[in-house]
Amino acid sequence: MIYQSVRLPLRSPRKIGINRRVFREITRCYATQLSDSTDVVVCGGGIAGTSVAYHLALRGKRVSLYEKDAVGCGGATGVSAGLVSAPTFWQDFTNQHLAENSLKLYADLAGSGKFRYVRCGRIFLASTLASEILLRRMYSRGILHNEHVELLDDQSDMLARWPYLQTEDVQLALFSPEDVSLDPVAMCQELAERAKALGAKFHEGVEVKEVLLGDEKQVYAVRTNLGLVETPAFVDASGVWTGSVLCKQLPHRHIQTAHHPCTYTYLHSSKLPSSSVCDTTPIINDLDGNVMVRLTGRKTRCAGFHEEGIRPIACPAATGEWTQPEADWDKFEISLSRLLHRIPLLSDVGHGDLICGMEAYTPDKCCTVGESSQAKGYYVASGFNGQGLSLAGGVGKLLADWIVDKDVSVDVARIDVGRFIELHANSQYLIERTPEIAAMTYINMYNSHQCHTARNLRMSPIYHQLRDAGAVFGESMGYERPLWFEPNSPKERNALLQGQDTLLGKPAWFERVRSEYEACRERVGLIDMSSFSKFEITGPDCVTFLQYLCSADIERPVGTTVYTGMQNEKGGYVTDCTLSRIGEQCFFMVAPTIQQDRCLSWMRKWAIDLKRNVHIQDVTGMYTALDVVGPSSRYLMNDLTGREFSNREFPAFRCQEMNIGMATGIRAISVTHCGELGWVIYIPNEVAQNVYDRLVEKGREYSMMHAGYYTLRQLRIEKFYVYWGQDINATVTPMECGRAFRVNFEEEIFGTQNTK
Ligand SMILES: Cc1cc2nc3c(=O)[nH]c(=O)nc-3n(C[C@H](O)[C@H](O)[C@H](O)COP(=O)(O)OP(=O)(O)OC[C@H]3O[C@@H](n4cnc5c(N)ncnc54)[C@H](O)[C@@H]3O)c2cc1C
Repeated sequence: MIYQSVRLPLRSPRKIGINRRVFREITRCYATQLSDSTDVVVCGGGIAGTSVAYHLALRGKRVSLYEKDAVGCGGATGVSAGLVSAPTFWQDFTNQHLAENSLKLYADLAGSGKFRYVRCGRIFLASTLASEILLRRMYSRGILHNEHVELLDDQSDMLARWPYLQTEDVQLALFSPEDVSLDPVAMCQELAERAKALGAKFHEGVEVKEVLLGDEKQVYAVRTNLGLVETPAFVDASGVWTGSVLCKQLPHRHIQTAHHPCTYTYLHSSKLPSSSVCDTTPIINDLDGNVMVRLTGRKTRCAGFHEEGIRPIACPAATGEWTQPEADWDKFEISLSRLLHRIPLLSDVGHGDLICGMEAYTPDKCCTVGESSQAKGYYVASGFNGQGLSLAGGVGKLLADWIVDKDVSVDVARIDVGRFIELHANSQYLIERTPEIAAMTYINMYNSHQCHTARNLRMSPIYHQLRDAGAVFGESMGYERPLWFEPNSPKERNALLQGQDTLLGKPAWFERVRSEYEACRERVGLIDMSSFSKFEITGPDCVTFLQYLCSADIERPVGTTVYTGMQNEKGGYVTDCTLSRIGEQCFFMVAPTIQQDRCLSWMRKWAIDLKRNVHIQDVTGMYTALDVVGPSSRYLMNDLTGREFSNREFPAFRCQEMNIGMATGIRAISVTHCGELGWVIYIPNEVAQNVYDRLVEKGREYSMMHAGYYTLRQLRIEKFYVYWGQDINATVTPMECGRAFRVNFEEEIFGTQNTK
């Protein structure tokens, strides 16, 4: 029921010339009563929340947005430089798709003529080989989106087009014509107007105080400073405040989110004294200087992303106002010198103001979108890593589809809030990691990229033994995993891979991986797989429950292992996994490392929805997993355990519990994840070092060699084993990836009760 429609002045307090406190009082008087029920409540009227509200309204949902300040003015959107990156910049399809949808939406809104919108394009400059390769890759992607993307390798051509640049050291330039410069506040407000025209209710000067959860941790109401609103869905799009709204029923009284505010500093000064500069002058991104410049006919804006110049900021209080962190000229000095190097004329521009905003950064430079596993109906759209304007248009559409259809048509694994586990929300972890991410705002992060901050967080019990054996570690989900081994390197070395592999040519590890690969193919190799996600699923309904979730037939005898997909409603992969039946009512599941939270929340959701009597426990941290692979693995395992590992006694796709030396409770599974003969042994952590030492000792007789993930990948590729996140994801079905033979098409799901 709606008591009174709420119309508020959609202009910033700054623009109408009153301070924020007075503005809030005025808006409070306007908003005397609130609608008491709605389909979705959105918290935050920045670009993300406004975009979500607009797209929900477009899908016919009743939506109420609450903004404690004024639309577009209360957070990062209000201080944004207003530069929208074209899809050319992003490497992965999901972000390209989001950027493309944002550009389309903003271009459509610009048709109203109510805000400044200039399609100025952007120039990326490379002065090193690594950046040059990066630009060539961006170019090959870019021309798929826009045929007018250009590469320039002649400095005189560059100078002819952009005479204000110093190009002596520039090896390559890429021109991306689609990038846009716009007024973020006015654009956000125009989007709000469109949403309101579709029926969305915008309540400015109203703060969300609490999200109320029911017994099953589902959202049922939201409390604002003006009263209670009943709703089954809540979207937290409150920028750096995301996760700070009270949720009393949760253990931490808030949802845990993996993002942290850091500074975003730019210099605002007058126009560059050059007749070639006008409003359509392209944005300039100097990749090696890590600086960005926006020159217009009226002013100049320069930003710098040097890591030393970026500070993590304490999260503002939940009820606090947007405050600008203090700008630090000393920290901006490196960026300033690089800016002057690239555009010497900047020294003729007046001193200018150094402005410091704050922005939410995530540990992996991807935004966080989707339903939190901590509360049903609690969605987030945040952590935009300095590119929120470029992505939020697309994110709003994606999240609206997700809420309405309970499904999306693109792979969201990279941006799904479920890719993180609780430790990623640890503030110390984020404080250490996020400045490094912020420094890469305009630099592509390749899959092989390894951060240098916040490392050595999760490690297997044999980490130090592996390091002494020469392991070079890379991190996934905070877990250190050996990528390859450098056996003759000094023990006291830093064993962490930082940065990324060379982008072209033979990588440094090539010969090492070749030897490891040969060992696995010809003798025996030992691969640490401890980071893989592991679960125990027990209870009287576990067979019917798993049969429902999985596409293979998992109703096999105790001692059997099945490789299967867990499929979503459209047949796409939620995950791939092995399920080992270790008891009549007990399964041991192993899934990819990055699937830890997603698998757990998917299974728990279905256990509740289907009312199945099952218990699901995450046992990832309880077992060390060692993969013993290669033709000699059978003999090594025989010697190690004193048991028969013949084809007859221990064929493929079987699991057995056994002792190794003095250690007990070890689960051996004859599925190696790489297609070679072998066994993965899951060892209780407390005895892992003991078993490892024994294994290495015995392995000498078989010339066993340590191998890392790069070797595992190589072995998998040769066997056409699909790889989660690259070959398969939520949009790929078993039919499409050659895994139809794993599907049990005869499966009858709970009789006629197929609700999937
Ligand atoms: C200096 C600077 C320059 C930038 N330049 C660019 C750029 O050129 N291009 C680009 O793509 N990105 C840029 N960004 C990043 C971009 O601005 C952000 O990613 C984006 O604006 C984030 O939007 P948002 O809606 O998530 O958050 P915000 O804009 O911060 O909005 C969150 C809103 O939630 C409200 N809120 C919080 N808590 C509550 C509550 N409890 N109840 C009600 N309301 C609440 C706040 O008042 C605020 O208005 C820049 C960022 C900064 C800091």
